[in-house]
Amino acid sequence: MKVLKFGGTSVGSAENMRKVALIVKREGAKITVLSAMSGTTDALVRIVKLAGKKGPLDPIEEELAMLSEKYTTCIENLLRSHKETALDRMNEALKTIRREVSDFRGSVSERIIIARGELLTSAIFTYYLQELGMKAELLHAPGFMHTDGESKVDTGLLKEKLSVLTAGDADTYYITQGFICSNASGEIDNLGRGGSDYSAALMGAAIGAGEVQIWTDIDGMHNNDPRFVENTYPIRRMSFDEAAELAYFGAKILHPATIQPCKDQDIPVLLKNTMDPDAPGTTISHEEDTQRDFHAVAAKDGITVIRIYSTRMLMAYGFLRKVFEIFEEHKTPIDMITTSEVAVSLTIDSDCHLDAIVRELNALGTIEIERNNTIVCIVGHMDHTQTGLAARIMESVAGVPIKMISYGASHRSIAMLVETHYKKEILQSINDKLFIRC
Ligand code: ADP
Ligand code: ASP
Ligand code: MG
Repeated sequence: MKVLKFGGTSVGSAENMRKVALIVKREGAKITVLSAMSGTTDALVRIVKLAGKKGPLDPIEEELAMLSEKYTTCIENLLRSHKETALDRMNEALKTIRREVSDFRGSVSERIIIARGELLTSAIFTYYLQELGMKAELLHAPGFMHTDGESKVDTGLLKEKLSVLTAGDADTYYITQGFICSNASGEIDNLGRGGSDYSAALMGAAIGAGEVQIWTDIDGMHNNDPRFVENTYPIRRMSFDEAAELAYFGAKILHPATIQPCKDQDIPVLLKNTMDPDAPGTTISHEEDTQRDFHAVAAKDGITVIRIYSTRMLMAYGFLRKVFEIFEEHKTPIDMITTSEVAVSLTIDSDCHLDAIVRELNALGTIEIERNNTIVCIVGHMDHTQTGLAARIMESVAGVPIKMISYGASHRSIAMLVETHYKKEILQSINDKLFIRC
């Protein structure tokens, strides 16, 4: 059994949806998880912002007109017998968004509006498979993907419900929405931007799939971010831990939470290119590549550094516990940490609770805050008994000021902190000096 997920570009036009249908058939996908057509969620987010501001309606109408044109073109080029039904469905969705905008009730309306992209795209694609004569059934993800008060997915319920819903004939193709779910209050919600990958991983784990395939617009995980760096190349095999680390530290191709459910059940994850289905892509499994020292690098922006200076740390114990408790109390995860005898520096990627955290940290020492930083994380197989590894890394970044370094926490990665305006430069330098030259 396979679960296949297709991202926004993969379902971004009638032409691409035809490619997706061929892949779904060829792979015999049990469950196909779809994002919204590319650009839809961004437009819906803009509509939500405009609705919240209660400004003039014209910009909202412009966004709706853009969506209407995009979906009408797709439907007219893709469908025949279901064309009118799909157009009606689209017009109904746009009308409902208009109503929700005029009766805007904050986050509830926001989440419902944002879900419309996935709902509409998955319906259009299901009609298309049916027109091709395939047995295709559309499943409503919020009916089986539930989150609790802490936004955690109820995997037990997912397994129970999905096994019943997908118990039909073996030749039925189940199509559903990624990204969206229902929350503890029973309202439509979502798993966060880019969350369709995570939806697919959870569904794969729930049905005990043999494989989860993430289909996108690039030939697998590259060694570096192709949006910023020239001469990147795809990596053919990668371990779960490496992929998880890269996704967490900014490799946009995968939502950061995707790997864990598949790792837990040892389900391989394939990253494939919809535009070039025969290209090998990347296979992520438990197998480690111990041949090469450095496999890939990723970067995560929006990092805030908190430095705590305190002579009370000197020769003392229990100081770090007090620091960590403050972050725990404010539900703020720490990404990087470096310590010396009289100072500790921590990084966080969400400063929602920064003021409250700093107020409490002030009791422990002198606090400094630095915003607009980027963590650059290199993953690989770094054997700490080998000489010269750290030297090679440092040489590759010699032209850029490094603010923090975290090395040795595992043999798998090294993380460095730089000011965000150095991101492109450091990624390119690492590519040229550490990867291409190897
Ligand atoms: P989808 O809409 O299919 O989910 P995304 O835009 O979320 O696609 O992810 C694919 C994009 O991720 C690629 O087009 C590429 O620009 C970007 N990306 C960033 N880092 C990497 C990387 N290390 N390897 C491959 N793609 C990457
Ligand atoms: N459509 C959603 C987004 O753009 C979810 C996804 O694509 O994974 O964030
Ligand atoms: Mg994505």
